[in-house]
Amino acid sequence: MVTIKSKREIEYIRESCKIVAMAQEAIKEAIKPGISTYELNEIAEKVIYKHNAIPSCKNFPSGIKGIPPFPAGVCISVNDEVIHGIPSKKVILKEGDIVSTDLCAYKNGFHGDATRTHIVGNESSVSNNVKKLVEVTKQSFFEGLKYARPGFRIGDISHAIGEYIESNGFYVVKEFQGHGIGADMHEEPGIPNFGKEGKGIRLEPGMTLAIEPMVNMGTEEIEVLDDGWTIVTADGSLAAHYENTILITEKEPEILTIM
Ligand code: MG
Repeated sequence: MVTIKSKREIEYIRESCKIVAMAQEAIKEAIKPGISTYELNEIAEKVIYKHNAIPSCKNFPSGIKGIPPFPAGVCISVNDEVIHGIPSKKVILKEGDIVSTDLCAYKNGFHGDATRTHIVGNESSVSNNVKKLVEVTKQSFFEGLKYARPGFRIGDISHAIGEYIESNGFYVVKEFQGHGIGADMHEEPGIPNFGKEGKGIRLEPGMTLAIEPMVNMGTEEIEVLDDGWTIVTADGSLAAHYENTILITEKEPEILTIM
């Protein structure tokens, strides 16, 4: 069921989203060659706890027998890792790595969710095509956002995102998708990053949605590592991810996870 949030619920979601934005800002300031993904996770978790929130991803169950819950507050995915990378002291970032940081905060019974992809160190250390991958991934979110208003449907958002990614020569990850968000981290509706215009549910004021394009450079095929969590590109090519939680209003959508 797709929930329409009350004014009061929206204020709670807004607060959680603000904490997510602050944690992302802290990561952005700290990320540099030589830092481990473990340290980045600690920095973000500290911000979340300081604001009396909980990192929703920490201890999130895998749903798979023998695979433990996610051990950290931030999914940190480096280079060919698409999503759900596990922070580690052994993963030391290098100049030119691309790193996505996906994190949620939970407070007052509501979640916020956002992802950024960073280029580590000097931007000139990566090729133009890598820069383009990161920029196209981010822009595809904004292409979808143009349809995030009453009068359109979920499929209009999905179609705009997918078209933009593919027309730029990259590949949409199809096994994972955006989602409604609120009292649960993942609510209906699912929001695929590809699809047909005019399909899916109608958008209505009061819906809160996490829109999150995941984009690969060389193939849409993905694989799961033995840790049961980390999703990588099947061909070892790079991947990027960008996400914000948004609110559907009568007019323009509001992005809740950008300060
Ligand atoms: Mg999400």
